[in-house]
Amino acid sequence: MLLLQRSVFKRLLQHFYSGNQGNAKSLVPAALPAGAAGHRNKSRRITFHSIAVPGERERTLIAIKPDGVQRRLVGQIMQRFEQRGFKLVGLKMLQVSEDLLSQHYCDLRTKPFYPSLLDYMSSGPVVVMVTFLSSLILVWEGHKVVQTSRTMVGHTNPAEAQAGTVRGDFSFHVSRNVVHASDSPEGAQREIQLWFHSKELLKWECCDQTITCEDAKA
Ligand code: UDP
Ligand code: MG
Repeated sequence: MLLLQRSVFKRLLQHFYSGNQGNAKSLVPAALPAGAAGHRNKSRRITFHSIAVPGERERTLIAIKPDGVQRRLVGQIMQRFEQRGFKLVGLKMLQVSEDLLSQHYCDLRTKPFYPSLLDYMSSGPVVVMVTFLSSLILVWEGHKVVQTSRTMVGHTNPAEAQAGTVRGDFSFHVSRNVVHASDSPEGAQREIQLWFHSKELLKWECCDQTITCEDAKA
């Protein structure tokens, strides 16, 4: 953002020093490098610099559990991921089958809380989404999407989750912790394949992608 402001400011200065009396309003959109990373405006010899940083990108699966849906927290939780810079590529609401849940939580089958976890997760609809994080945020935060979303979601036990995390702000007991987030890139891949058909995941371009992500078309 700072670089973008500098770029706009530099362009305004050059415009006025060159004696151009054109309408300054028209300069602002021109200064935004829409798809113009490294583009040189020959008439005014102004170089636009890409503000994006290339990097690795990942997908992760986030689910708003039945208590989150019942408590009408869907909008607030989704807003946090949008605000952070995640790109939504898949979204659905469903009543989860026991079969899907047993596959999703296969690692926890021997845990004492497993039966009540299945009851909880099948007690009502869940909203499940696949998100993607632009490389700018990855580099900026030093985290990958899976790690970043786990940090945003907070500790499994809301009593230990920090304020500001989803669980730290919206829940107080481990048995009703509102949201699920994949815990590793491999786990995310497995869960995404379990919850979504590949045709349900959309490939689309954010209108701001040239600002937030250099290789967003990949
Ligand atoms: N859970 C529970 N009691 C526990 C631990 C976990 O009810 O003592 C539930 C809780 O809903 C948690 C889910 O089981 O989110 C999966 O547990 P996991 O250890 O994978 O935690 P998560 O990855 O969700 O943070
Ligand atoms: Mg887990």
